[in-house]
Amino acid sequence: MKKTLVLIASIFLINCQMIAQKSETIAVIESKNVNQAKLPLVEDGPIKNVILIIGDGTGLAQITTGQYSLVGADGFLTLQRMPVTGIVRTHAANTLITDSAAGATAYSCGKKTDNGKVAWLPDGRSCKTLLEIAEELGKSTGLVATSTITHATPASFAAHVESRGMQTTIAEQYLDSGVEVFLGGGKEFFIPQDQEGSSRKDDRNLVEEFKASGYGYVENVQEMKENDADRILGLFADKGMPSEVRTPTLSEMTDKALEILSANEEGFFLMVEASQIDWGGHENNAEYVIREVKDLDAAVKTALDFAQEDGETLVIVTADHETGGMTFQKSPSGTKELEIFWTTDYHTGIPTPLMAYGPHAMRFSGWHDNTAIGILIAELAGYPGFPAILE
Ligand SMILES: [Zn+2]
Repeated sequence: MKKTLVLIASIFLINCQMIAQKSETIAVIESKNVNQAKLPLVEDGPIKNVILIIGDGTGLAQITTGQYSLVGADGFLTLQRMPVTGIVRTHAANTLITDSAAGATAYSCGKKTDNGKVAWLPDGRSCKTLLEIAEELGKSTGLVATSTITHATPASFAAHVESRGMQTTIAEQYLDSGVEVFLGGGKEFFIPQDQEGSSRKDDRNLVEEFKASGYGYVENVQEMKENDADRILGLFADKGMPSEVRTPTLSEMTDKALEILSANEEGFFLMVEASQIDWGGHENNAEYVIREVKDLDAAVKTALDFAQEDGETLVIVTADHETGGMTFQKSPSGTKELEIFWTTDYHTGIPTPLMAYGPHAMRFSGWHDNTAIGILIAELAGYPGFPAILE
């Protein structure tokens, strides 16, 4: 009898541990920004510009945790005021739990690939990206991220490699991509091996090569704001950009990108990644996630302010997957605190939210496969021959 009881108790304990691995408590602030008026639906018309904002690892729990901490239970983040919402299914070609490379390739190419592959299909062929078609149409293009700028998500729009780890090769491919704006971290992949902080295994100095091909080069927010070149490479950290004190912020980088790209009468395609919400999820660190959601939401505001002014700009805010299995099921002291639970330190297969603003935004409501989002953007923005294989 005693043995049976011990056995039952240990099974129960194991189950408890398996169900909720980790938890932490965050403060819920007094509500502000409670005005829940949505941004208006824009009359359907031509889409000259596309701004795709990807919150890496950002599910509903990450957004809501950010909301509770930044604007309270009744407050609204800027991205929660966008008029159209959809739901995105995120599975990859070889697994139901995607990584960022396959997740971003689904958006950039409108095609499924295996985890780890960057605009590179399971059969070894490369797929043509939205950004590459925008370049062919004479539009300007840009990539902004808080990770290394050669990381899986931005790379999936302007490079083609079998493995996301090939960041030095991705940096080399960027040089011939025609992309006008690169802003983020990752100087380590652009400087020769003899320079401190380099991760290259050769003596190529891509920073000098970018300058030689007409790019303005900047390493801090002041230089970025003052630089007036019509194409720019900004590397603000050797690796990913710091989180606690980030300069420039994602919003400032987005603003600079819009300043340069909007000079092109043909329009532009811009991908902005809030890369480190995912990193906070991997660390099961709610405060980290909150900081990064704040950075994301400010960049969303910068993009929406531009789009409202412009009238021919589609803004899509979504995620490639959720990270951490984040949830909350307890509020220890009424509405003042929230207990967060994490069920994993990796990605989950939970579908992710999508928010849209601009002409034809309503087409993004409802459930979609991630590949369908890229295909819809191409259809609505008039990008011909998508999806396609890169010949
Ligand atoms: Zn991740």
